[in-house]
Amino acid sequence: MKKKTQLIHGGISGDEKTGAVSVPIFQVSTYKQDGPGSHRGYEYSRTGNPTRFALEELIKELEDGKRGFAFGSGMAAITAVMMLFSQGDHILLTDDIYGGSFRVMTKVLNRFGLEATFIDTSDLSNIQKAIQPNTKALYIETPTNPLLKITDIEAASKIAKDNGLLTIVDNTFSTPYWQNPISLGADIVLHSATKYIGGHSDVVAGLVVVGDEKLGEDLHFVQNSTGGILGPQDSWLLMRGIKTLGIRMEEHEENTRKIVEFLSTQKAVTKIYYPGIETHPNHAIAKKQSRGFGGMISFDVGSAEKAAEVLKRVKYFTIAESLGAVESLISIPALMTHASIPQERRAELGITDGLIRVSVGLEDAEDLIEDLEQALRG
Ligand SMILES: *Cc1c(COP(=O)(O)O)cnc(C)c1O
Repeated sequence: MKKKTQLIHGGISGDEKTGAVSVPIFQVSTYKQDGPGSHRGYEYSRTGNPTRFALEELIKELEDGKRGFAFGSGMAAITAVMMLFSQGDHILLTDDIYGGSFRVMTKVLNRFGLEATFIDTSDLSNIQKAIQPNTKALYIETPTNPLLKITDIEAASKIAKDNGLLTIVDNTFSTPYWQNPISLGADIVLHSATKYIGGHSDVVAGLVVVGDEKLGEDLHFVQNSTGGILGPQDSWLLMRGIKTLGIRMEEHEENTRKIVEFLSTQKAVTKIYYPGIETHPNHAIAKKQSRGFGGMISFDVGSAEKAAEVLKRVKYFTIAESLGAVESLISIPALMTHASIPQERRAELGITDGLIRVSVGLEDAEDLIEDLEQALRG
């Protein structure tokens, strides 16, 4: 089955009993047992709910894994995955990781004795060097946020495997439509489904897929024990969003390509970060491991003042955190998404005060370009 067909016919589609073509929303917490301990597959909705299960089956198939899990947010998903580890374990992570992921590792999970080291995983030689005797996992985000750095998933997973580490990939930016880390050798793939998977700025959710049964059992144990599950309404909304993920991603990409072309003609723009352009340092790897480059662009306008001015002048780009929705969003990472990362760390990473990040939406590209043009002219 090809991807767009799988988005519509994958998982559990519809309802056997009534013929409804969409999965019913099982707004329920508990289930009648035919006798004590004799249930029909569901006992209590933290443990399992049919609407959530339909979504979990769908994402499992889309990511080519063995078991899927839906959580109340991307951060709940990431935290649950980290709960697979124990006090004293050490995790290696990509350095310009999502701000919230950095925060949970350095301000919350560190208090429970989970150690973290942040490295530039786009340079594979850094991985081997950073492995310690207690290192248990390599956590990669690719492309990264907001600098769109690319890590070679296949090569990184191989280094991890050779050293007995699990490979975890945050696949939020690429989505399962463009990139499937488990097929490239990763053990666990996760998403903030709040972004492209939901796609309409109306749901906060997280998804995880694991590549083997044992990890599936372990993660289900964590999910059921800690309880960060996604509710049935939101599970249904995600399944609705997933049906159009393919056409949305194709269109996001098309608009993005046109905007990148436009930005590269602008004098006010000193640097463009987009893995789809040949000058991107890891363009070849992006092309090898993904079927598309996505709809996120970052570009530098040289100063905090200029960046503020552009944000003030744009009409069709909503100033907002988040990404991956039908409407175009614009942000200044240093002031918004990455404000929780200390200033000196941001400088080290190259997240300058003049850096603007755009999540290209599904409006007409001509309108978006005209809007950026007048904003940059300022
Ligand atoms: C948004 C985001 C997260 C966190 O997800 P929430 O749904 O906001 O909790 C994690 N990783 C990446 C790459 C993100 O963009």
